Amino acid sequence: MPPKLPNLVSVTTIAEDGSRVALHPSDVHGRFTKQRRVFALLLIALYVALPWIPVRGQPALFFDLANGRFHVFGLTFLTQDFWLVFFLISGTGFALFYITALFGRLWCGWACPYTVFLEHVFRRIERWIDGDSTARQKLDRAPWGAGKWIRRLIKHLLYILCATVIAHVFLSYFVSIGGLYRYMGESPMANFKSFALVFALTAAIYFCFAWFREQFCIILCPYGRIQSALTDDDTIIIGYDPKRGEPRGKASDPATGDCIDCRRCVTVCPTGIDIRNGLQLECIGCAACVDACDSIMDKIDRPRGLVRYDSFNGLVGKTKRIVRPRILLYTVLMFVGASVLGVALTRVHDVEVLTTRMTGMPYYVTDETVRNQFKIRLFTKRAEPTTFTLSLENAPEGTIAGGIDRPVTLGPLGSIEQPLTVIIPREFYTGPGSFKLVSRSQPGGTIITHTLDFVGPDARLLAEDAEAATKNKPKP
Ligand code: SF4
Ligand code: SF4
Repeated sequence: MPPKLPNLVSVTTIAEDGSRVALHPSDVHGRFTKQRRVFALLLIALYVALPWIPVRGQPALFFDLANGRFHVFGLTFLTQDFWLVFFLISGTGFALFYITALFGRLWCGWACPYTVFLEHVFRRIERWIDGDSTARQKLDRAPWGAGKWIRRLIKHLLYILCATVIAHVFLSYFVSIGGLYRYMGESPMANFKSFALVFALTAAIYFCFAWFREQFCIILCPYGRIQSALTDDDTIIIGYDPKRGEPRGKASDPATGDCIDCRRCVTVCPTGIDIRNGLQLECIGCAACVDACDSIMDKIDRPRGLVRYDSFNGLVGKTKRIVRPRILLYTVLMFVGASVLGVALTRVHDVEVLTTRMTGMPYYVTDETVRNQFKIRLFTKRAEPTTFTLSLENAPEGTIAGGIDRPVTLGPLGSIEQPLTVIIPREFYTGPGSFKLVSRSQPGGTIITHTLDFVGPDARLLAEDAEAATKNKPKP
């Protein structure tokens, strides 16, 4: 079957009969390829290093699910602070909209973990074991012999090794490096959930990078699906300049444009498209075709940039605009999101006090008192001991607060749950009301105030009941 040429109506990696066509992109060299590789190596180094770098006594990123604490660059959050994630996700989403509207799929080509690991780890291993694009295609077509088996075996063992390392590093974000080493020294059954997670993740990474590859970007990634809604004719994309390139033909023919139809831009493309057909959903903005075409232009002594970073308007010779309504809108949304997140972060303390009402009866009435019971939870996110002093303010005269009469000292990252019984003598009880529970913590002097709602019967009815009870009391 002759090779299928990329077009706009079908996916290159799916053959006419529906079978998968394996892509073997050619090697490419150039400024963007070099910059992308350096950037990818930095990102990989960061991914591996973050659980090792201590910030205020904790790993820079440590999502300690077992204890409900999330350490993010020196800030500690509890599960109660989870509402902040909404602002984080929406802020990140708006930032991504903004970047996409300005620069297209810059994220996909340069920073997406999937691209980083596929292009700069797994495809490198393949290149190392199986050779260049031509050698890989030849090996694919070759009958199964000892040489092919050995190469395949080594390649897939290396894939599995890399997938295992990536999955273990991922686990260390949740159990810390110390926890990871401890788990690795124990039986898998001792930490079965973590073991199952790492096993499943290793299998998923291996499946994606050994076989599924560019299909994830082409048919699964939701971000690729929405890019056409986020970009416009002024977005910087990777595109082909048809004014310069057409009509295609030999470099020696003065009647043709600069494109010599060498298809080098197609053979280096990791998603198998022809950028000369215009921006397509499959384009991840990796700039491989830019470097490929620039090297051809150098060879035929024509100016670089036949394929380049430019907007659609720029490519067709129209005026380019940077500031436009959608950019203004995304800028406003991004700043609103960042401001709300900033304000929200100021409300997160390094100590927390939570109050809830005890389950069961909302209040108890005795001959002498009206009583409410609460549950108090104290947390410290600090790396040193913290002492809490609790008191009631604005409570009626004679109120007794049982359970908070002494300061409570918690160790680093400690928490405690304790009851608080609020008792109001009947002679001072004036009905349901509310008062303040004030917590002062040292060191730091953080003051946190909560409103406690004291519930009970109507004071007048209570007084009448008491009077009736006194009247009905048998005289001695
Ligand atoms: S690499 Fe450049 S010259 Fe070659 S086909 Fe692509 S656009 Fe044309
Ligand atoms: S068309 Fe160019 S930028 Fe887009 S994915 Fe292919 S090589 Fe990368």
